Amino acid sequence: MKDIDIRISGQAGRITLNRPKALNALTDGMCHAIAAALVSWRNDPAVALVIIDAVGDRAFCAGGDIAELYATGIKGDYQYGRDFWREEYRMNAMLFGYPKPVVSLKQGFIMGGGVGIGCHGSHRIVGETSRIAMPECGIGLIPDVGGTFILARAPGRLGEYLGITGARLDAGDAIYAGFADHFVAQEKWPDLISQLESTGDVDLIQGVEETAPTGSLAPLHADIDRHFAGESLGDILNTLRAEDSDFARKALKTLGRNSALSMACTIEALHRLRSPTLDIRKALEMEYRYTWRAMEHGDFLEGVRATIVDKTHDATWQYSDMNVPAVAVSKMLMPLGKDKLTFDTKETTMKIGFIGLGNMGAPMAANLAKSGYDVTGFDMADVSVEGANMAETAVEAVTGADVVFTMLPNGAILRAVAADIIPAMANGATLVDCSTVDVDSALAVAEQAEAAKILFVDAPVSGGTVGASGGTLTFMAGGTAKAFAKAEPMFDIMGQKAVHCGDAGAGQAAKICNNMILGATMIATCEAFALADKLGLDRQKMFNVVSTSSGYSWSMNAYCPAPGIGPESPADNDYTPGFAADLMLKDLRLSQQAAKSANADTPMGALAEKLYAQFVEDEDGAGRDFSAMLPRFEKRSHS
Ligand code: NAD
Repeated sequence: MKDIDIRISGQAGRITLNRPKALNALTDGMCHAIAAALVSWRNDPAVALVIIDAVGDRAFCAGGDIAELYATGIKGDYQYGRDFWREEYRMNAMLFGYPKPVVSLKQGFIMGGGVGIGCHGSHRIVGETSRIAMPECGIGLIPDVGGTFILARAPGRLGEYLGITGARLDAGDAIYAGFADHFVAQEKWPDLISQLESTGDVDLIQGVEETAPTGSLAPLHADIDRHFAGESLGDILNTLRAEDSDFARKALKTLGRNSALSMACTIEALHRLRSPTLDIRKALEMEYRYTWRAMEHGDFLEGVRATIVDKTHDATWQYSDMNVPAVAVSKMLMPLGKDKLTFDTKETTMKIGFIGLGNMGAPMAANLAKSGYDVTGFDMADVSVEGANMAETAVEAVTGADVVFTMLPNGAILRAVAADIIPAMANGATLVDCSTVDVDSALAVAEQAEAAKILFVDAPVSGGTVGASGGTLTFMAGGTAKAFAKAEPMFDIMGQKAVHCGDAGAGQAAKICNNMILGATMIATCEAFALADKLGLDRQKMFNVVSTSSGYSWSMNAYCPAPGIGPESPADNDYTPGFAADLMLKDLRLSQQAAKSANADTPMGALAEKLYAQFVEDEDGAGRDFSAMLPRFEKRSHS
């Protein structure tokens, strides 16, 4: 196809937009060609990554080719547009969830449809001439092609501002707002592309990237947050009108040119989407509600006439007084019922295998499934996980998976499971072990994975069962940058933070140190409560003081071992484990093994290990939560 050049070059699947005279505007045919290429490269071992670029200096892609949409729509045929948008959005979702790295290099204008192709991959590169914008409200649409996904996640109120003003972003601004990841000087692009083709290694980008020149957005951020925080378009306009400043005047002038209905719906869509469970498919589905109705009930045809066909810029918008009733917004964003945008999960969804669905694994897997991943789980025990398929064996769960997670009790079990599943995993798939195990087991599995051409990350977690259900875990990861990058989007769903600590094994090292602190602080917290009891100090008062004084800790503030005090914790459930004392003993033993082999002096860790060993092995700690140290101390006296 002459408008787009699709080929395999070296290890790269290559997509080059080739309509420079039309600013590489995206046609129906180009969308289909991109989608077909992505499907065929998905399981092709010859393709390690996808690179998207465009011919010409002026634009990477200045938007969708709306001439045909207009020509059909003006005759009352709305179906052509609905079909076009549906296929385009499906392709956008495919790019976002693609199981291989997608590198895009974007010069000149990147608008509308161009954002959909260039701003959803894993490595989004911009250069000196890049200018990104979502100006859809100027033609009676709302930001689409997954633009609302990026806008809803932009810091502060940048999303609302960029979405309704259509302001242009240079490279620095684009990185600041979340539309791009890397700035690479454009003269380096040809060489970078040929190296990516020959090595398939996206880590090369880090070697050539530079700090982007500072853009103009950051200095405006405070003004933007102040003026664009309102519930509705009306609130935003009122705030701007109430201030006599250059910023407010300029913003009002820009907004005055756009469709009020589009702007009001953009604000509402962003507010509805902005939540921790946001994913690109939710955003696209919301956008499609609008675009499906845009020709018949919105301002789209009039907007295209005035801006692109007649170029008179005299659109007669609905609600020209800018007062858009809430009911008009609701009507445009109402669910579409049988016409709802759906996705072919086989093509757009990353497949995840999850082995070990206990206290931690089950809620983690459920969060991945909730976010739209296709999760297949396996556990020796008879368990089920909401939203996930259950396999009969571990091998069945990992067959065909792009990423496999393990969340198992210890290193010996991990080694046995890894020996079973690694031969069944696809070449180039990623294995992420989130269990807490000894560094040697992590390294042994990493070695085995590498030999089988599988990426490996050891990524133990902190945050307990509450963090696992709430998606607020911290991941401490060891492995190559490439492996970490592959797992990072899933860490973002299951956690609030992921730290790449270094090479394989570094995650476990961080975890062992963290849990040595946790074991010691839990003991200290429990013995302090027992002492407080004996001193006649009320437990709630003790909590009120310590939780805001220098004795505070996670054990006290988030996981209080005293029943009825602080946020709900296993103490409130008769010490049924969130985190079992047996597992804490395991971690403390790991810390002492590590301290011995590294020749480190860790007397508090050693004492904590001794106390948990006594509690679990000689007393009644086995099978109880690790915070059940408190009833243990209650029963004891000073010796
Ligand atoms: P858990 O005992 O509740 O879950 C482990 C699961 O693994 C069980 O459901 C078990 O049936 C399954 N399993 C065991 N062997 C298996 C095999 N061969 N194949 C498939 N499944 C198998 O333990 P958990 O609390 O979920 O902890 C899991 C890991 O996470 C541990 O390494 C632990 O140290 C770590 N961790 C736990 C917490 C916590 O608060 N619970 C916090 C951080 C880290």
